Amino acid sequence: MKRQYLLIVVFLGALLHVNAQTDKQMDSFISKLMSQMTLEEKIGQLNLPVSNVFVAGERKTNEMSPLEQRIAKGEIGGLFGMKGSKQIRDIQKTAVEKSRLHIPLLFGLDVIHGYETTFPIPLALASSWNMELIEREARISATEASIDGINWVFSPMVDLCRDARWGRIAEGPGEDPFLGGEIAKALVRGYQGRNNDFSVENTLMACVKHYALYGASEAGRDYNTVDMSRQRMMNEYMLPYKAACEQGAGSYMASFNEFEGIPATANKYLLDDILRKQWGFKGFIVSDYTGISEMVNHGIGDLKTVSARALDAGIDMDMVSEGFTSTLKQSLAEGKITQAHIDQACRRILEAKYKLGLFTDPFKFCNDDRASKELFSPANRAISKEVADECQVLLKNENNLLPLHKNGRIAVIGPLGDASSDMPGCWSITGKADQSVSLYQGIKAALGVNGTVVYAKGSDLVADSLLETKLNGMMGFVIPGMSVKKVHDRSPEDLLREALELAQNSDVVIAALGENANMNGEGASRSVPDIPGPQAELLKSLVATGKPVILVIFTGRPLILSWEDAHVPAILNAWFPGSEAGTSIAGILFGDVNPSGKLTTTFPRNAGQIPIFYNHKNTGRPHGENELYSRFRSNYLDVLNSPLYPFGYGLSYTKFEYGDVALSAAEMTTSGKVTASVRVKNSGSRDGKEIVQLYIRDIYSTSTRPVKELKAFRKIFLKAGESMDVSFDLTADDLKYYNHELDYVCEPGDFEILIGPNSRDVKVAKLTLK
Ligand code: BGC
Repeated sequence: MKRQYLLIVVFLGALLHVNAQTDKQMDSFISKLMSQMTLEEKIGQLNLPVSNVFVAGERKTNEMSPLEQRIAKGEIGGLFGMKGSKQIRDIQKTAVEKSRLHIPLLFGLDVIHGYETTFPIPLALASSWNMELIEREARISATEASIDGINWVFSPMVDLCRDARWGRIAEGPGEDPFLGGEIAKALVRGYQGRNNDFSVENTLMACVKHYALYGASEAGRDYNTVDMSRQRMMNEYMLPYKAACEQGAGSYMASFNEFEGIPATANKYLLDDILRKQWGFKGFIVSDYTGISEMVNHGIGDLKTVSARALDAGIDMDMVSEGFTSTLKQSLAEGKITQAHIDQACRRILEAKYKLGLFTDPFKFCNDDRASKELFSPANRAISKEVADECQVLLKNENNLLPLHKNGRIAVIGPLGDASSDMPGCWSITGKADQSVSLYQGIKAALGVNGTVVYAKGSDLVADSLLETKLNGMMGFVIPGMSVKKVHDRSPEDLLREALELAQNSDVVIAALGENANMNGEGASRSVPDIPGPQAELLKSLVATGKPVILVIFTGRPLILSWEDAHVPAILNAWFPGSEAGTSIAGILFGDVNPSGKLTTTFPRNAGQIPIFYNHKNTGRPHGENELYSRFRSNYLDVLNSPLYPFGYGLSYTKFEYGDVALSAAEMTTSGKVTASVRVKNSGSRDGKEIVQLYIRDIYSTSTRPVKELKAFRKIFLKAGESMDVSFDLTADDLKYYNHELDYVCEPGDFEILIGPNSRDVKVAKLTLK
């Protein structure tokens, strides 16, 4: 044992020595390089314009474009928005062959949930609660992106969000700090590899975004003000960003929102005090798209002032604003910033390039041969299906209507029933959207000759004229995967008539409704997140036919489904499942796959309940057990406090029974450990996966604490009839929180340990911390 320990110490010592040597080599390489750089070249490294070229292809002429001329002059440190190894190789050639000091470029891209092979949207990925699967998704995304020339991805997006109105809730992990942290780590591991060795083939640098608190925008309106206490921020919203830092993420992106009256892009407290000093982050920080120039609109200065403030606060790279290139020289001359500021930022960018191995091989990420074979390969698509199988959430299944038999006549009805290009969801700019499998195609393939499937659109996606106008004008530009569609092509009456006729002549109806890809993501906030009017009407008519109706929902946010829950016998939330959407959904509907996803956001009963989340605080007047009889309580008169579907909720085709929670001891010291366990039995007739969740509640503490906090979970597989003891080790670390002085403490006293299949249906045991 002692010998083993000694060996580990020697090994770690050797590793530290090697790292120190590498750091030393890097430092001296960069110092030497910087000693030859002009001020303009240093500022050039801090500049990140967008290439505006999304389509792959080789450069046809020998003439340099205006962008390349700037690269040759050393005015650009990196580019983003390009796709295609040949094209990236051409541009990199310009950088290393035509620029004075031959410094290679960073090539960034929004690889959010897949590259050409698209995986379920991040909110769906989170619903798998399967960290190994999430890491695999990121690994494949990184592999595809890197062989196509990308060396830096603008992911993971780890903004916690409790507001279904915010369109970007689709891009993140949901509402829980602990789960968000685990997902952040899994994604960073997937992109950067387990050793954070960016120079290895097929790893690239992650960029954690949007730092910080972007998901807490007031009223869920995108880019809006964020205002919260530092205590809440540290206990809740910061956890995923911190976890990504602990995992070794190479870069961060500042968010658009303000915090405490200062936009995050110029917020020294967030960028420097917390991220760099408290957490020890050593990489570089990029602004978001025009994040620097937007501070003029925030009203904290003109472009020169805000650029200097951003640099001083800790931003190293300016995305698109050209604030650094156009003003830093003058700010330096006026003494508003120092040479040390510029040198520091430049060094951080060069370090990233060095760590990526770009000084050794600037083209290492371009592999034309592999790109042509491995992008969107059958193997990667098969994994995309496997991932999608675990992300969908069965919300309701009355009288075991699901799974369906593979026979008879099935009607797929709804504007999303045969919508291939919507299946990847938002932020899938490089995905092969039109080659994704639609629900109708998936069902047809699964049925084969055993049955018939027919399709009708049934209704328009939206009718509301403001929503429709905005959707058609979305973002002002068209990029693949975010195509703008003509919304109406036939009269509503005609669409409905056709749909009802098909429904009446079929054995079962699958209604494919919800949002399209454009209704989620950036700039896609909705004041009432529901199934839009014409589709809701269609659903009512379908239910009225008396045929069994299964609702398959496409969405990037929690939707209000109160009517649907009360009237439709089976509801499957498919989110946006990616390239293999239809294949995966059909697998679940026919029972080839047993659904196992669980929600990571609370589903509200109506829009007025928003923001609603499980880990809220108690009030002095919490509602009692019977919500209906609590008047002078923290209540609404017109709706219950409880959600429609709670955090952690999701059904299976089998049944899991939970025993009582057992603790290895009823007391724990601050240096001790207690094991909490529960027996879980698959008492149904199918094999299945279950997500066992452990929450804690601090009964009395100096500051108020949430009524429940997720602290551990495990996804298990049980064959029909099988049981398993699932146990979790708890230490005082799991009971710590930031008190009102922002000290990270655990306070002796009583705690509840709650275990169950979701945040509502838990069993309790008492634990005392001595
Ligand atoms: C988004 C970021 C994204 C960036 C570059 C911004 O508008 O907020 O999430 O990474 O654009 O595309």
